[in-house]
Amino acid sequence: MRRKIIAGNWKMNLTLQEAESLADALIKDDFTGNGTEMIVAPPYIYLQWLASKRKTLPNLQVAAQNCSEHNAGAYTGEVSAVMLASLGVNYCITGHSERRSIFGETGTMLAAKVNRLLENKLGPIFCCGETLPQRESKRHKETVKDQLQDGLFHLDALSLEKCILAYEPVWAIGTGVTASPQQAQEMHEFIRSVLSEKYTKEVAGRIPILYGGSVTASNAADLFSCPDVDGALVGGASLKADEFKKILQAMNSKNHA
Ligand code: PEP
Repeated sequence: MRRKIIAGNWKMNLTLQEAESLADALIKDDFTGNGTEMIVAPPYIYLQWLASKRKTLPNLQVAAQNCSEHNAGAYTGEVSAVMLASLGVNYCITGHSERRSIFGETGTMLAAKVNRLLENKLGPIFCCGETLPQRESKRHKETVKDQLQDGLFHLDALSLEKCILAYEPVWAIGTGVTASPQQAQEMHEFIRSVLSEKYTKEVAGRIPILYGGSVTASNAADLFSCPDVDGALVGGASLKADEFKKILQAMNSKNHA
């Protein structure tokens, strides 16, 4: 059975006090169950504090939203995978479309980040996805395949299996427009076929592929009904405990392949 995962990306939101009430609400009831894993990605400065909450909620896993492509040195403002590992962080989002488009992250930089994470025993949550013009010009599959090739396909199968993939169509991130379950399934199936070609069908069958892009409590169950959707990377809705809890519950209800 493939892993079922719901990951929340808080992005650059919440004061410490707001983060505390959200974390308290997440910890109060254990939302995980029936095998669903919960990952939360707060801003860097809350990582150590959030990781300490695992004493109360061992099912909570913590992710960074970014890391440097270097392990140490004169890189003012950067945070390395070595540092994240020393805080007990489990995962790191890599290749989020905001990092690609606003901060100019390229496939080469992402491949280096993936390497630093794996060397430090952190799991990359590797994001891929097309823009609206790319979809409208029917280049969505080619775009996603190129992103996988540039950022991930230098890995051997063993290393690839330490990664979580997230298909996040850029036109659906933070827009309130969600991919239809048919669009999501088509792309997840495509990604699995590309993984299968490069590695093996067995390896491709074990990699969790999350959907991301305006997932809410009201559309989660439909998206999770797709056989190749193994969970979600959630932005806006992860800032509301009730909403996030309902998304986790929708994943719990799925009897996965
Ligand atoms: C994201 O930032 O990865 C994301 C999917 O955001 P949202 O759920 O707000 O669209």
